[in-house]
Amino acid sequence: MKDGLSANSIYRKDYTVYPWDIDQLDLYFDIGSESTVVRAEMEFHLKGEEKETQDIVLNGSNLQLVSLSLNGHLLSSSDYAISGETLTIPHAPRKSVLKTEVKVYPAGNSALEGLYLSGAFLLTQCEAQGFRKITWFPDRPDVMTTYRVTMEADRSEFPVLLSNGNQEAAGDLADGRHWVRWQDPFPKPSYLFALVAGDLALVEDNFVTRSGRDVVLRIYVEEENLDRCEHAMESLINAMRWDEERFNLEYDLDIYHIVATNDFNMGAMENKSLNIFNSKYVLARPDAATDADYQGIEGVIGHEYFHNWTGNRVTCRDWFELTLKEGLTVFRDEEFSADMQSRAVKRIRVVRDLRGRQFPEDDGPMSHPIRPDRYVEINNFYTATVYQKGATIIRMYHTLLGEAGFQKGMKLYFERHDGQAVTCDDFLAAMADANGVDLERFGRWYSQSGTPQVHVSDHYDAAAQKYTLTLKQHTPVTHDQQTKQSLVIPFAVGLLNAKGEELPLQLENETDASGSTRLLVLEKAQQEYTFINIAEAPVPSLFRDYSAPVKIFYDYSHAQLATLIAYDSDAYVRWDAAQRMAQDVILEQCRRHANGKEMKVDSSLLRAFRGILSDHQADPALLAEAMILPDEDYLAEQMEVVDVDGIHAARKFIKQGLASDLVALLAERYAELNDGQPYQKTSGDMARRALKNVCLSYLLETSAGESRAIAQLEASDNMTDTLAAINGLILVDSPIADGALSEFETRWREDTLVMDKWFTIQAIKPGPGTLNRVRELMQHPAFSIQNPNKVRALIGVFAMLNPTGFHAADGSGYTFHADRVIELDGLNPQIAARMASAFNRWKRYDDPRKKLMKAQLQRIAAVDNLSGDVSEIVNNALR
Ligand SMILES: [Zn+2]
Repeated sequence: MKDGLSANSIYRKDYTVYPWDIDQLDLYFDIGSESTVVRAEMEFHLKGEEKETQDIVLNGSNLQLVSLSLNGHLLSSSDYAISGETLTIPHAPRKSVLKTEVKVYPAGNSALEGLYLSGAFLLTQCEAQGFRKITWFPDRPDVMTTYRVTMEADRSEFPVLLSNGNQEAAGDLADGRHWVRWQDPFPKPSYLFALVAGDLALVEDNFVTRSGRDVVLRIYVEEENLDRCEHAMESLINAMRWDEERFNLEYDLDIYHIVATNDFNMGAMENKSLNIFNSKYVLARPDAATDADYQGIEGVIGHEYFHNWTGNRVTCRDWFELTLKEGLTVFRDEEFSADMQSRAVKRIRVVRDLRGRQFPEDDGPMSHPIRPDRYVEINNFYTATVYQKGATIIRMYHTLLGEAGFQKGMKLYFERHDGQAVTCDDFLAAMADANGVDLERFGRWYSQSGTPQVHVSDHYDAAAQKYTLTLKQHTPVTHDQQTKQSLVIPFAVGLLNAKGEELPLQLENETDASGSTRLLVLEKAQQEYTFINIAEAPVPSLFRDYSAPVKIFYDYSHAQLATLIAYDSDAYVRWDAAQRMAQDVILEQCRRHANGKEMKVDSSLLRAFRGILSDHQADPALLAEAMILPDEDYLAEQMEVVDVDGIHAARKFIKQGLASDLVALLAERYAELNDGQPYQKTSGDMARRALKNVCLSYLLETSAGESRAIAQLEASDNMTDTLAAINGLILVDSPIADGALSEFETRWREDTLVMDKWFTIQAIKPGPGTLNRVRELMQHPAFSIQNPNKVRALIGVFAMLNPTGFHAADGSGYTFHADRVIELDGLNPQIAARMASAFNRWKRYDDPRKKLMKAQLQRIAAVDNLSGDVSEIVNNALR
C-alpha cells in the first residue's frame, strides 16, 4: 500500500452500474462481544433482459467465512474467488438466492469501523465502507434494499437490541437468551445500516408530525448519563418541527433512536432511525458542558436528523458525490442554528471555520473539488472542502434563487429522486428546471478546486457623481489542477457615506434607486459596475453576508475599515472589517519583530476596539466575535513564509496593548456582564457570557485579570465560566493555576467528556514546557490512545492549535507527533490519517522547519504495512 497513490486510486469516471437488484436483505446476528455470527440471505435479480447469467461481486473485509450457498447449493472454495476485499461468484443465474455465514470479532476491532465494542455495548459504524466488515455485500451506496434484522443474545448482558426501522417481533429463548426483529420499510444503502446491543438506559419523549404521525423519540445512554439528555431531546424536537416549517419535510417512521457512545471516529452518524452519536454531541448539563457544547449538540442533532431526507431518502450514487448529502445537510443545519440562535453570529462562526480550515486545505497537498475525481481512501475525503465549502455552494444557489426559488428546487429534487441514489448533477438540474434558469456555468463549482480570489478596485467620478467598482476573479493553480476557469460568484455590496449612512443604490442601467444592498453576479474574469447619483466618494461594503467561498482583496484604508466597523448594517462586514484591521496591524508588528524593530500599537485599532466595546446596542455575542483577534494559524496563512514565533509575539503584543489601553472599559463591561445571576441556557445569556469571557481574556493580559478569574472560578455555576477562568489562569502562569487544575481533576476524573477539556486546556498552552506536559498526560489514567476523543483533545490540539509548541525550532514537536501517527496507524487508521494531516502545510515554513517536517513525513511513509489512509496523506504531502 505504500506508494499506492496512482496504483490504488479509484476514479469517478470509472463508475459502472451494479448489474443486480437486491430485493430484500435478511440479516441474523448471534451477538457476542468476543465473536458474533452473522448470517445473511439476499435475493439477486439481474437488471436488463440480455444476459442469462452474470457474476455476483461482493465486498468483505476481515470476515471469517463460515459458509456460502447459492440457490440452495453449498459452495466449495473452487466455486468462488476471493481477492483482496472482493468475492466473485461467477455466472450466477438471473434469479439467485445467496446465503452467507461469517464470524466477526468486535472486541478486537480498534478501528471503530464495522461492528465494535464500546464500554459495555456493541455498535456499528458503516459509512463509508464499514458494512463490508460485517458481512459480504455489494457495499456501495447505489445498491439500495430493504433490511430485516434479527438479533439474538444473552438477555442480561444485552438487554437492549436495536436496529433500523420498526420493531416487528421479539421473544425469549432458552438459557436466559432473547431475540428481537427489526424491519425497515425504506430501501437503503448498506452505509446506513446500524445495530446496537448492550445494557443502556433511555430517555423517552414523543413528537406528533404535522400530518398526525406519533413518533416515539428515544435517547439511549449509559445509566450515569441519564441526567444529561434534556438538551439533545429538545434539539431533536426543534429540528423535527423546523424541517416541517422551513422545508416542508416530515419524519416517516414511528420511532427515532439516538445512541451515545464514547468511542467514535466522527461526530455522529445518520443511520436510518438509529442515529449513533459521539457522546460529545449528546450529553450536556450546565456544570459539565460549555455554551459551545450546547450549540454543537443542537447543530449536530439537527444535522443527523435532516439527513433523513437529504442523504437517506435521496442518497449518493457513489462516494465521489458525498457533498450531495453533506454540503446540503450542513447548509440545512447552519440555517437551523441560525433560526434558533443569532443568524449573524452563526454566519460569522461559519465563515471563520471555512477560512480557518477549508482555505488551507484548498491551498495544500490534499486540495480537491467539493466533488473529487479521484481518491485512494474515501475516509480521507470527509473534509472541510466536501462539507463546509460544499455547504457554501448550496448557500450560493439560495442566494441566487432566493428562498422561494430554492424551495421550489428542493421540492422538484424530492419529486424526481425520492428512493434513488443520485449525483450532484441531478441536484443542479432540479434547481435549474424548477426555476427555469441555466446553471451550467455554476456547475463548475463542483469540479474546480482552489479558493478563487476576487480583486476589487474602484473609481469615483465626482463630476458625474458616478462610482465604479471593478471586480476581477482569478483562481490560483492548486496541487491537483493546473488550469482554472471563471466561476459564477454572487457578490453583494452596499455603499456607505462618511457618516456611515447607507446610500440608496442605482446601477447605470436601472431607472430608479432601490435598496441599500445590491447582489452583483460576477461571471467573467473581469466585470465593471457603475453606480449613479453618488454624491460623495463612498466606503464600499463588500461581500455582504459572505456570499461565496472566495478571498476578497481591496485596499481598504484604516479610516474606511473604521467606518465599516462602526456603522455597517451587515454583521459579517462589520466583523470582517475588525478582523482585517487587526490582521494588518499584527502582521505589520510581525515584520517589525523580524527586523529587530520595536513593536507599536496602532491608534486606529485602539479606537475601533474602544468603539466595539462601548456599543450597548449590538448583540453581545457579535461584539465578542469582533473582539477575538485572528488566530495564529489564520495569520500564518497570510504570510509568504510563516514566522511562527513572530506571529505569536506580535499577536500577544497587540492583545496586551489593547488590554492596557482599554482596561477601565474592559473592567466596566466585565462587571456589568458578570452580574451574579444564576445560569440560564438562553441564547441571550450565552451571548452575555461570550462577551464577558472575551473581556476576561483581555483583562488577563493586565494585572487586573487574575483576581477576577479567581473570583469567577469560585463563583461559577457553569462550565463556560469555569473553563474560561482556568484557561486564563494557565495562560498567564498564575501561581494558582496548578491548584485549579488539580481541583478540576479531582472533581471530574470519572467524567470522560469533561476530562477531554482538562487535557485540551493544558495541551493548548503556548511555550516550551507543554510538550513534556502532553507526554505526562498520555500516562494519565483518563487518557487512552485507543479513544478518538482523547486523541483529538490532547494530541490533536497540541499539533493543530498550539503553533509554538508543535513548531518548536528543535523539531521535538514534530518527532513526538510522528511517533503518535505511527502508533495510531496500527490501531485506528482513520484517526491516524487525521493526525498526519498536521504536517500538510510543511512547505510554508522556514528551511530548517521544512527539513525537520519532511524528515518526519518520510519516516512515516517508510513504515511497513502503513495503512492506505495515512499513506495517501503523507505521500500527497511529500509529492
Ligand atoms: Zn452528515
